[in-house]
Amino acid sequence: MFDTSVIELSRSALRRNFRFLRRHIGPHPRISCVIKGNAYGHGIESFLPLAEECGVDHFSVFSASEAVRAVASRGNPSTHVMIMGHVEGEAIPWAVEQGVSFYVFDRQRLEQALAAAGRVGAPALIHLEVETGLNRTGLAGEDLGRALELLSSHGDRLRLMGVCTHYAGAESVNNYLRIQKQKVRYEEALERVREAGLDPGLRHTACSAAAITYPETVMDMVRTGIAMYGFWPSKQTKMHYIQNNCQTPSQRRANPLRRVMRWRSSIMSLKKVQAGEFIGYGTSCQATKPRVLASVPVGYFHGFARSLSNLGYVLVHGRRANVAGLVNMNALLVDVTDMNGKARKGDEVVLIGRQKRSHISVSSFSDLTRNPNYEVLTRLPACIPRVVVD
Ligand SMILES: *Cc1c(COP(=O)(O)O)cnc(C)c1O
Repeated sequence: MFDTSVIELSRSALRRNFRFLRRHIGPHPRISCVIKGNAYGHGIESFLPLAEECGVDHFSVFSASEAVRAVASRGNPSTHVMIMGHVEGEAIPWAVEQGVSFYVFDRQRLEQALAAAGRVGAPALIHLEVETGLNRTGLAGEDLGRALELLSSHGDRLRLMGVCTHYAGAESVNNYLRIQKQKVRYEEALERVREAGLDPGLRHTACSAAAITYPETVMDMVRTGIAMYGFWPSKQTKMHYIQNNCQTPSQRRANPLRRVMRWRSSIMSLKKVQAGEFIGYGTSCQATKPRVLASVPVGYFHGFARSLSNLGYVLVHGRRANVAGLVNMNALLVDVTDMNGKARKGDEVVLIGRQKRSHISVSSFSDLTRNPNYEVLTRLPACIPRVVVD
């Protein structure tokens, strides 16, 4: 065996999450699965074909470099790829040639798209991002007006595929008023698009949290990331869903989302340590009684945060084993003293996911380091192999 750990992707979990979203938003809106950040750490190359198998035919990436990977991994040539962020220079004619659509949020990109369409001899597929209050990227005011003029006078080369925006934190009620304002501004922008004589195409504004919490934000398409991978955007989103959609106690208990990812490694070696000895680097951990430690070949290089030193835990034989001492670059030690000799070299160690009747969710893993799910997932390095399981 060459790899020190493996990330399993569950087909049945992904299918379930997709079906849940489909049921929740109804049969008509298109679902674009967001695969930026290396598919939230799941690995674009492994995840995308799996998602296609489960019925997904539209994917959103952040950058042109991710789009290249998505195009190369798709099994179905009609699977659509959309760039929501960075696409510059020679990547623009590439996107036009490939039929990859992309966001436009400034005049320069629109002009580049126009030029590229002329060179390639095919229309540029444009999603107009409008500014509604996130204040990151997006067109507003006169800039939007000029973009609309350009779009309507070059309909042959610039095909308006959609009009979109992104909410400033739909996973928290703290942002409720801000999001209501954004919806109003979005409707105003849509009105301007129509007044310019343009068909807005796909209206899309909702991420996972908005699609689950605010039904009115589900228009012609949703862009869902975190929920597809089986995580709630936040505890509030989950509570809101349960309160509004579940009547019976058993419905309230049943989680409609399933974690797609399971991260496992195995015990590399075992060691007995006498009372009084320090464990690992420095003096942060001392054996107050004789202890048995298992080394696991996963460290902060692999995305297991150093801040979980003496705090985090893993699963061995379905039981918690606490991290003892500092998390090293490539390894960590866990305490298996209480397993009465049951822990052996080569035994499975679970870092995220289920083992027997126990499980470690990314959020309990990350609550300890105060990172949201998103960050912990995307920090899992691309070099860990991803394998598909049922
Ligand atoms: C990341 C992202 C999404 C998906 O967000 P989730 O919370 O993971 O569903 C949607 N739209 C845009 C513009 C994004 O950047």
